[in-house]
Amino acid sequence: MRQVDRPTALIGHTDMLLLRSLSKLTGCEIWLKLESQNPGGSIKDRAALQMIEDAFASGALQPGMTIVEGTAGNTGIGLALVAKSFGLNMLAVMPNDQSPEKQRMISLYGAELKTVNPVPFKDPNHFYHTARRLAESRDDYWWANQFENTSNARAHYLHTGPEIWQQTNGAIDIFVSVAGTGGTIGGNSKFFKEQQPDCQIWLADPDGSGIYSYLKTGQYQSQGSSMTEGIGIMRLVENFRMAQIDAAVNLPDQDLVSLSRYVREQDSLVLGSSSALNVAAALQAALLHGPGKTIVTFACDLGERSASKLYNDEYLVQRGLSLAIEPIDQLIGRYRENGERVWYASSH
Ligand code: PMP
Repeated sequence: MRQVDRPTALIGHTDMLLLRSLSKLTGCEIWLKLESQNPGGSIKDRAALQMIEDAFASGALQPGMTIVEGTAGNTGIGLALVAKSFGLNMLAVMPNDQSPEKQRMISLYGAELKTVNPVPFKDPNHFYHTARRLAESRDDYWWANQFENTSNARAHYLHTGPEIWQQTNGAIDIFVSVAGTGGTIGGNSKFFKEQQPDCQIWLADPDGSGIYSYLKTGQYQSQGSSMTEGIGIMRLVENFRMAQIDAAVNLPDQDLVSLSRYVREQDSLVLGSSSALNVAAALQAALLHGPGKTIVTFACDLGERSASKLYNDEYLVQRGLSLAIEPIDQLIGRYRENGERVWYASSH
């Protein structure tokens, strides 16, 4: 329990919850670090705070300036929250296919929101390039640039990793994470490998993302698409470059539908879509490495940010997904035999 005088002082120091259902079924301990507890409702609050603190320390940011950032939403919410408490303004550029739940939150924090059409990265109207151009248009604008600004991964190297290390008494066997900018997996993996080189780092990658193929073949290629938001990437960025990855698994959205419903029924927990992917990959890791392993992954954001997609039957049907929930025994059976979806660094 904390008593603080600013919301930014509530960022980090999140609790960990044992996923009892899947732990019991696998004989492993599968822990979720609840990043949804951050004041802005996601893990990106940590990156937002570190980027702003570091930019203040270097003099790049001064009171009264405006932070500009291209974001799938969670970084925008985090920056909007931190900006206010540092006396800064915030302008978020967001693709218009991201959930309205996140758009609303950015506006509620009083940030300016500009939405753009979702286009490939090579298009100059991509949200990333739009944010950069806007930031360059005025001297009192500052571009946070979460993809290349390594203060992002530093937040996890300095805080998230050490918190997990303390919470598990250093007994973590496998760390599982999705990647959007790679800040989370970059900073945490660097910390864990320094403490315990045997700690296995697993990346969870959705369809439509090229990281899995990049690790496997050196080329960014993807197939299909995913309803997950804020994760998956088609180019190498500085924060991801820091990641020390032992294994990667690509998992389809259909599995997220089944697992999110299972965890909701069994553990009373509504997972966001990237968190459901983390849980799916943690389950895969438990089945291939376990039993007896301690596995840590994240609830990256609030489950209600996925209300209009992962928990919206009409949307799921529109995407061609089945509403039938695969029985957990069947899913586990598939994952046990499903080694071919997993890439291991040693076999590279
Ligand atoms: N989950 C969600 C819901 C996110 O919004 C993000 C970041 N956009 C991530 C996971 C991934 O975090 P990172 O940028 O640290 O790779």
